[in-house]
Amino acid sequence: MRIFCIGRNYAAHAAELKNELPTEPVVFIKPESCLVDVGDDIHFPSHGEVLHHEAEIVIEIGKAAKNLSLSDATSVISKIGLGIDLTLRDVQEHLKSKKLPWEKAKAFDYSSPLGVMLEFDGQDLKDLHISCRVNGELRQNGNTAEMIFSVEEIISHLSNIWALQKGDLIYTGTPSGVGPLVRGDKIEVISEQLGQSSWTIC
Ligand code: ZN
Repeated sequence: MRIFCIGRNYAAHAAELKNELPTEPVVFIKPESCLVDVGDDIHFPSHGEVLHHEAEIVIEIGKAAKNLSLSDATSVISKIGLGIDLTLRDVQEHLKSKKLPWEKAKAFDYSSPLGVMLEFDGQDLKDLHISCRVNGELRQNGNTAEMIFSVEEIISHLSNIWALQKGDLIYTGTPSGVGPLVRGDKIEVISEQLGQSSWTIC
């Protein structure tokens, strides 16, 4: 399985990092070894200092598929939930300035906490709440209605480049409000429709 991640998919988040709005989905991939289960600790990485939370809606692919049309895209979703695309922002800014790949900033160990995943049963993908709290303080609060590329567009786009496999995960981008985490922080992702999961940074 792969972990596909979409960058800059909410206009307000692209703006807060001073990035142009994308004209097609920005995609990067993380290895499975990045995942952190609910309840496991997130280990602060040793190769950077500014660790940002990016709370995201996560889609799990339930069957192999490729070249999906928009109208067929939701038929391959098996589960849906919340996760965090942890990002070393200082490392990413350095890599971006040198026009280098982002893996060191995005695809390190413990960079993909994955919350409780629910069976996909036709939830309205264009109206899903997503929020993030750190030590109880609201940091991010958004809705998939604000996405630049919808979940259907993301799945179709990915499937026309990579043959999707059962078990693939898609982190669909983060709303605005990203910010730093320090050791000892408790981070929660919460959605009115998708539940709640939390982790501690150590
Ligand atoms: Zn992200």
